[in-house]
Amino acid sequence: MTYTGTQIELDLEKIENRLEKPDWPLLIAGPCSAESEEQLMDTAVQLMNTKRVSIYRAGLWKPRTRPNMFEGVGKVGLPWLLNVKKQTGLQVATEVATPEHVELALKHDIDVLWIGARTSVNPFSVQAIADALKGTNATVLVKNPVNPDLQLWIGALERINRVGIKRLAAVHRGFSSHEKTVFRNAPMWNIPIELKAACPGLPVICDPSHICGNAGLIPMLAQKALDMDMAGLMIECHNKPECAMSDAGQQLLPTQYGNMIRNLILRSASPAGDAADAGGLLRQLREEIDVFDDELIQKLSLRMQAVAKIGRYKRDNNISILQLHRWSELVRRRIDLGQALGLSEDFLKKLLDLIHQESINIQVEIMNKEKY
Ligand code: PEP
Ligand code: MN
Repeated sequence: MTYTGTQIELDLEKIENRLEKPDWPLLIAGPCSAESEEQLMDTAVQLMNTKRVSIYRAGLWKPRTRPNMFEGVGKVGLPWLLNVKKQTGLQVATEVATPEHVELALKHDIDVLWIGARTSVNPFSVQAIADALKGTNATVLVKNPVNPDLQLWIGALERINRVGIKRLAAVHRGFSSHEKTVFRNAPMWNIPIELKAACPGLPVICDPSHICGNAGLIPMLAQKALDMDMAGLMIECHNKPECAMSDAGQQLLPTQYGNMIRNLILRSASPAGDAADAGGLLRQLREEIDVFDDELIQKLSLRMQAVAKIGRYKRDNNISILQLHRWSELVRRRIDLGQALGLSEDFLKKLLDLIHQESINIQVEIMNKEKY
């Protein structure tokens, strides 16, 4: 699969910015929603003072799950954003979901427009936005669709790119998933990595706020995004997060944001030893391994949680921990599956033994130590 769109010309380093360290990735921060002129300006000035922001974000039109939720201040917020831009020198960004939003935002000199996850999921909406963007030199960010569909995401980027928009980037904000995890939206790192591979030259930025849904997880996820060589971060910040009218649980104070960014480690994408890896293939493959290892660890943790539940059941029903016939049958089936998938019998036996031993330890602990 190759990207067929017009060449992307968005050079992130050329975005005029207020960063102390210009070699940093693109940093976008600001509240989920613009709520009042005062909230918008206060948050912006505090963020500007961190010297770790180049683009200030704020949603004016909010796509909400239920109609009685706060749906944004709408176009009255456009002059507020313009004022922020004048006072702070930051570039400003807002979400557009209809051609009318595009026209209004461009008329008010909004520097960056983003297409949200609930819009990028719909080709009709994306095409209508693309038609409104035709002939402009807008900068557009396309968030991934809510569902994990790489082709749909690429399709949305292509629609925007095909009307001549070259200042284009993608935003990874995680995916809706039936599987329960600690995240609001599962990161599914393989998808943004595949997007990078399919669209070389397209900057892919990460939005840890909407992935985590919880302010406490954001620093870990932001570091992970940098480790995955994402081209920038978009992070929700609010001057009074606890009072935020949307996404209150995931917004950081500007000072928390500044400290977090200062503590992130920016690893060199091509260390000296990898100088021969000019095409970045080695790095790409290592990133894939990182994703698989993370998934393995998460699955092992889920497995051991299930083992503990079984341990409690056995304890409450006076069943012995070890049932050899069940274990031998399980090992046989796993080895058959593993061998069919190209893994060696010796490796599978050792791995399953380790897992079995840990499972027994967990259940022994439950039988002997856990109180009823
Ligand atoms: C947002 O950025 O506030 C937003 C609504 O994001 P998403 O479209 O990723 O849910
Ligand atoms: Mn939000």
